[in-house]
Amino acid sequence: MIKENLNEIQNKIEYSLLKRTVTADSNSVKLIAVTKNHEVADMQEAIEAGVLSIGENRIQEAISKAATLDREVEWHLLGHLQTNKVKQAVHLFDMIHSVDSKKIAVEINKEAKKINKIQDVLLQVNIAKEESKFGIYAEDLPDLLRDVDQMESLHVCGLMTIAPICDNLEEVRPIFKNMFHLYTDMKQHKFEKTDLKWLSMGMSHDYTAAIEEGANMVRIGTAIFGPRQY
Ligand SMILES: *Cc1c(COP(=O)(O)O)cnc(C)c1O
Repeated sequence: MIKENLNEIQNKIEYSLLKRTVTADSNSVKLIAVTKNHEVADMQEAIEAGVLSIGENRIQEAISKAATLDREVEWHLLGHLQTNKVKQAVHLFDMIHSVDSKKIAVEINKEAKKINKIQDVLLQVNIAKEESKFGIYAEDLPDLLRDVDQMESLHVCGLMTIAPICDNLEEVRPIFKNMFHLYTDMKQHKFEKTDLKWLSMGMSHDYTAAIEEGANMVRIGTAIFGPRQY
């Protein structure tokens, strides 16, 4: 099933790219397979079917999976990061999608420096200003970008958002439009080393709309692996 699901998703990604009306700088989409609460065997199956990047939310779960998974993959941290977990996160993850404060950025920079790593990160934006969600507000983003650009062991390579849950994709589309607008706007700024090339938005239920509106990285779990067991 995993292989078939991936094929179907790939087709939908291609179709959404064709339907894209915005001018984005890349005409491809990077798929992050979100494996939280799924077994290592499922991850293995996905990797054999061509998955190159894995997304996880919790550090402990990711560490124990990494220890048993004997495959080369890119590890992406999607979940909120607490200060006391930063060291472990920096050791494992190729990219951290959930940086939303100067405080956490400072911690990541410190731990990355200790192990001579340049940590790739995305800044998480709470574009719809939902109280229940992490992420920085759009108006505070320029300041955070400026600060983080100065941190020598951090490399900001894009923005991430989690859209509100809507019954209808057309309701969430304006949110994706806003986010793409913010992203293209921020790309105009002059930075020393920040290179905004990824816009991570879109999950199982809304990735087609996200891609149509300019996403070039999507994070998909349920549509690949089925519902999660908690
Ligand atoms: C769980 C999760 C996903 C994947 O969600 P699905 O609906 O299963 O595709 C994507 N992004 C983040 C931040 C997540 O926590």
